[in-house]
Amino acid sequence: MSAPMIEINNLSKRFGDHVVLKDISLRVRKGAVVAMIGPSGSGKSTLLRCINLLTMPDGGRIRVGERSMDFDSGEGRRMHEKDLASYRATTGMVFQHFNLFPHMTTVQNVMEGPVTVQKVPKARAHALAMELLTRVGLAEKANAYPDMLSGGQKQRVAIARALALRPSVMLFDEATSALDPELVGEVLAVIKALAEDGMTMILVTHEIAFAREVADEVIFMRDGVVVESGPAGQVIDNPAQAATQSFLARFN
Ligand code: ADP
Ligand code: MG
Repeated sequence: MSAPMIEINNLSKRFGDHVVLKDISLRVRKGAVVAMIGPSGSGKSTLLRCINLLTMPDGGRIRVGERSMDFDSGEGRRMHEKDLASYRATTGMVFQHFNLFPHMTTVQNVMEGPVTVQKVPKARAHALAMELLTRVGLAEKANAYPDMLSGGQKQRVAIARALALRPSVMLFDEATSALDPELVGEVLAVIKALAEDGMTMILVTHEIAFAREVADEVIFMRDGVVVESGPAGQVIDNPAQAATQSFLARFN
């Protein structure tokens, strides 16, 4: 067995007195899709943000691909801005709110990271951006501005933008929660295609049926701890813990 793509050991995070992540350990193998579910406030976003280092963990270790950081020794907290930016590029993040640059066209939004963070020449970044826009079905919107796009289209641009940095993993934080119901499917279809292409992903989602279909593994979090994890079919259809059962009962 090759080493997991993502390995987290004993991760902890507190805000003031409030312990938000308690001793979290998890592994995601290369090409696996992990769905993270759990009630609001359980620490799902904080965990994704810690993996991307948008939030600095207080303790524990994170390894993504070849990059490993030890927060017990303070090594991770001493990372320089430049290293942080290059690390963040390897962990592409997609948020509930798309955060596209409103003054840039679709293709400019997708090119921006490679050009500014990775110093990719503009012509090459443009070609890559067009390839990615084609992949998310939006090549014909390359020159449109974000306010001309639907929510589903904006989110697909946001996915292309994250992919443009050639991440080794993708992290989705409720990527479809802000969308009108009729626009959810087109975004889930893009995520599913990425899964089929072998992208390693962690999805925080309330789309339980989608998690059941696409995820290899499901993690149920509550109050900053992993209460239960296992194969998607097992955790969703046959949860072992009472807390998981009562959470999932809301979706039936
Ligand atoms: P989830 O994504 O599962 O809803 P979050 O990770 O967003 O949960 O939040 C977990 C807990 O951490 C919540 O109680 C939230 O209020 C708190 N929290 C998150 N971010 C901050 C912050 N920047 N400052 C203080 N508290 C925070
Ligand atoms: Mg959240």
